[in-house]
Parts: sequence; C-alpha cells; structure tokens
Amino acid sequence: MENIKDNIKIVLDNIEIAAKKAGRSKEDITLIAVSKTKPVECIEEALKNGLVNMGENKVQEIRHKYDVLGNNVKWHMIGHLQTNKVKYIIDKVSLIHSVDSLKLAEKINAEAVKSDKIMDILIQLNVAHEETKFGLMTKEVTDFIIAVSKLSNIRIKGLMTIAPYVINSEDNRHIFREIKQLAVDIKRKNIDNVSMDILSMGMTNDYMVAIEEGSTMVRVGTGIFGKRDYNKR
Ligand SMILES: *Cc1c(COP(=O)(O)O)cnc(C)c1O
Repeated sequence: MENIKDNIKIVLDNIEIAAKKAGRSKEDITLIAVSKTKPVECIEEALKNGLVNMGENKVQEIRHKYDVLGNNVKWHMIGHLQTNKVKYIIDKVSLIHSVDSLKLAEKINAEAVKSDKIMDILIQLNVAHEETKFGLMTKEVTDFIIAVSKLSNIRIKGLMTIAPYVINSEDNRHIFREIKQLAVDIKRKNIDNVSMDILSMGMTNDYMVAIEEGSTMVRVGTGIFGKRDYNKR
C-alpha cells in the first residue's frame, strides 16, 4: 500500500499553503479522497487518518464499498451517472457532483422523492471541450439551473468541473477563475433552492491553483492513494 498517511499530510499541508496564499482559511476547503479503483483497505487507512469524504465514479463500485463501509464514509458521486442507475445510489451518496442533463436531474428528483430525502447536487460544467463529452457549456448553465431549481427534492449547491490534464497547473488557472466568476453571477440571481457555496474543482495536478481561485472542494486521487491500475478493477 502507498504511504497514504504521509500523502494525506502532504495534501493537507498544501491545501493550507494555497488557502493562505489566497487569504482563505483551510477550513473552507473540503478534501475529497478519490478512491476509485482502490480497495476498501485503502479507504480504511484514509478514514484512520481523518478523512471521511471519498469520491467514486462507478455506481457498482459505490454499492460494493458501501456494503462494507456504509455511512462511515461520506460518498461523493463524481463520475458520469446513467439515469437507470440513480436508484442504486440515491440513499448512499451525500453529494452528486456530475449533474449535466435535465433528464438526469428529473430522475434524481424522482428517486429522492421515493426515498423521502433531499438530494444535494452540483452542476458539472464542460470547460475542456475535447477531453470530455460530459458537462454543460457555460452559456447553457443559467437556464439549466433555473429549470432544475423547480424540482422539489433537489438542492443545487454549486458547480463542478474537470479541467484538462496539463503539465503546468498554471495553464488551468483561467478555467478556475471563470467558474468562480460564473458562480458569483449565478448567486447574484438569488434563485430559490440554489446556493453557490460549493465549487468542486482541482485534482492532484492542479488543486493548489484551484484553491487560489476559489475552489471549496478538491478531488485528489493519485496524490493520496498513488497511481491507479485500471486492469485490476
Ligand atoms: C479520477 C478523478 C479525480 C482524481 O484524479 P487524480 O488526478 O488522481 O487526483 C478527480 N475528479 C474526477 C471526476 C475523477 O474522475
């Protein structure tokens, strides 16, 4: 196993450094440990070292890990979600980061009604047009949020984006800045059931820059658990 304990310390220190640089407090930033492809033992090690928020991108994997760890973990769905699978995770996850279609939002709402819960969601934005087909274009987002905000059992908590993979994290700074500005603009509209308290942006390669530009949730996988082996899943 990677030295998860040491890695967590390094990431938390970096979060504090980046927050300070931006005149922010480290308490304003939540670290999501992205545990996809990693075994339950790795998550247990992260839990032992003070983390509770785990990010997963496959419904099947959340179900399996939930069977073992249950609500000891706050599960975050960060990957593309198919409407027919919403029912399997609606009672397991604390936040869905990847809502990008009205069809999906309506399905989440319907399942939340059935489970008698309010589901917190983020709206995923597509800023890296070639690299991912998921997420909304920035020009579509306001109308989309207004439509979703009318659903009874969904609360929009903010925005999420996956920036492109870059060697130099500075290359993504303008993206994070743009998303932050978009959140400010949306907040000003005071839409019912919509807050812009969460900005889920920044991954292993660029979370410090993301924090400097206003991120409140960073999703760090490799930086905590080491490289992923997709053949082993
Ligand atoms: C895998 C993944 C991450 C973590 O990526 P790392 O580069 O390993 O930190 C973050 N966000 C999403 C949506 C992911 O799929």
